Amino acid sequence: MRAADACPGVLRPHRAEDGAMVRLRLPGGRVPARTLRRLSDLAAAYGNGVLQLTSRAGLQLRGLPDPLPPAFVDAVTATGLLPSPTHERVRNIVASPLTGLHGGRADVSGLTRDLDLALIAEPALAELPGRFLFVLDDGRGDVLDLRLDLGYRATGPEGGQLLVGGPDLGLPVTAGEVVPTLVGLALAFAAARTDTGAWHVRELPAWVASLDLVPVPVPAAPVTGPAGTPLGAVGGAASVAVPLAMLTGPQVAAVEHAVGDGAVVITPWRGLVLPGAAGSLPALAEAGLVTDDEGAWAQLSACVGAPACARGRIDTTALASALVGRGTQLPRTHLSGCERRCGAPTGHHVDLVAPTLAEAVHAVGGR
Ligand code: SF4
Repeated sequence: MRAADACPGVLRPHRAEDGAMVRLRLPGGRVPARTLRRLSDLAAAYGNGVLQLTSRAGLQLRGLPDPLPPAFVDAVTATGLLPSPTHERVRNIVASPLTGLHGGRADVSGLTRDLDLALIAEPALAELPGRFLFVLDDGRGDVLDLRLDLGYRATGPEGGQLLVGGPDLGLPVTAGEVVPTLVGLALAFAAARTDTGAWHVRELPAWVASLDLVPVPVPAAPVTGPAGTPLGAVGGAASVAVPLAMLTGPQVAAVEHAVGDGAVVITPWRGLVLPGAAGSLPALAEAGLVTDDEGAWAQLSACVGAPACARGRIDTTALASALVGRGTQLPRTHLSGCERRCGAPTGHHVDLVAPTLAEAVHAVGGR
């Protein structure tokens, strides 16, 4: 039997070297700008002042007191981002960030909301592993390589393919069948994993084989920038990357100024989509957000590393800054403090594990 699922939430923080860390799930990555501002204020008041974007389009606050002050938990709860104490760690739903805004074959934002509500309504799904991932793709194929457990790929507004364990196996469904079918399969997985400790669908091949699935044609890889969603003006939206996924207070202020009462979409590639804010790109760049696919910060990601992580053998943030500071054009690169390679992208990239600066420069083709 595998070790217990230790995925953190707000009600079950992780103890890191730099203090407590909490993770917030944001189905589809959507969060009102004012809520983002509130979280940023809480990060400044209680933690290290930064909101860390996750590879599942969520947020983490770090450097918090351990144990967490009840006033902090109350304040996070008051934002409305913890609608279910029992299900907070299972609301892992990633959707195409630009859905309903630009491109795609269908708008899956309504399905994202409906799936979230349906998950919360099932008491048995509170036991789903915190690593279990639902993916809703609006037909453009941008989120299909995120190692989904259960998913959906729209082929049009009327329906598409239900996906199980990956992008290439599933069954045809109408749009109205998507949520109940996903919930039914999640319940069946929750029952099938009992006594196995399995975290993912692909760990139970016999269960998958029992589902009568059919091969699904995988779409050609979408054309995107290094951050997954193209950066710059996309339709009327501003699409930006956040250097090292660390969103600072001044950057949140710039984001709030750009979208006002609107919502922001966090992408699984440590970026933000700001609907209707293409005209604010110069101000967002001024705040340090990346608006250009060619910029070094758009190409480079890193795990949190030392000193925040006990396993880290290097200070990844310092080394990343030194690498970018050299002005060398970078290929897609991920920097890790140890062999775990947390947050590494799924696509092709230069994989750097605890290098010296000289080793890193050599690996990316610089001098
Ligand atoms: S890759 Fe290693 S050093 Fe980096 S955050 Fe993960 S465990 Fe820590």
